Amino acid sequence: MKSDILLTRRQALITGASLPLAAASATPALAAAEMQGAYTPAFSRFTLGDFEITTLLAGTTVAGDAQGIFGTNVSSEEFADVSARNFIPADQTEFYFTPTLVNTGQELILFDTGLNAAQLIQALNASGYTAEQINVVVITHMHFDHIGGLMADGTPTFPNARYVTGSVEYNHWNGAEDAAFESNVHPLAEKMSFLNDGGSVAPGITAVAAFGHTPGHMAFMIESQGQSVLLFGDTANHYVWSLGYPDWEVRFDMDKTAAAATRRRLLDMLASDRIPFIGYHMPFPALGYVERRDSGFRYVPASYQFRL
Ligand SMILES: [Zn+2]
Repeated sequence: MKSDILLTRRQALITGASLPLAAASATPALAAAEMQGAYTPAFSRFTLGDFEITTLLAGTTVAGDAQGIFGTNVSSEEFADVSARNFIPADQTEFYFTPTLVNTGQELILFDTGLNAAQLIQALNASGYTAEQINVVVITHMHFDHIGGLMADGTPTFPNARYVTGSVEYNHWNGAEDAAFESNVHPLAEKMSFLNDGGSVAPGITAVAAFGHTPGHMAFMIESQGQSVLLFGDTANHYVWSLGYPDWEVRFDMDKTAAAATRRRLLDMLASDRIPFIGYHMPFPALGYVERRDSGFRYVPASYQFRL
């Protein structure tokens, strides 16, 4: 008889699954656990020398017709093939919006502000800071998804901040009759200072001209105690389609030739010098490295390098 009740593990699993009534009679009823939905944390923090750097996820959006945005100058077959080889769909994509905080120990500096103040403040508060604590807001460029959080219903989101942006960028949008610029940037002009290539935001934070995506787009080299990370807005907007194929045209690049040249120049520097970067639209937490591959680059997300 004993051999009759000896079951293999697989048989036991199958048998158990088919006996809910027997189980229910032996133990109190237990409701099935609720589904919680997909989740991504709102912030991520690491140290760079004496600095603390926090990336904030101020929202995501899903966009259809991915090739209407990326790789507009290549065949649909090539686009589909590259996407499939990288395990991502070709027909849609997810955009991340990642403002970044640098706490230098002297100042709390925010780079870019997301689509709106509400989502930014939610992530900022989750990370342990308040809007009142922000000393400096730096704007990489003036597309709406970078300046959207500067104001809320006509009121500045960061009451104690000064603002820094590129002079070429400001001069382009000032007079372009752009609604987002007029509502969110122009009212702050008196508290704004302007820099050019090599200009300093604060000790250790230096502007790097990255023109092309917009006329005056700026990247920023952040350095402390001999460690560096490059922060950029839209020099590369997708971790496969932009990093892997820098010459693929991107609908949002205002000067496509200049944008591709800038993309190559900065990615080449990152690969050569093995410097990590924070990319505003990279998959959260938006921190990684690039290595050369074929005629482009491959994204290598950071793991524990900054925790050691
Ligand atoms: Zn952007």
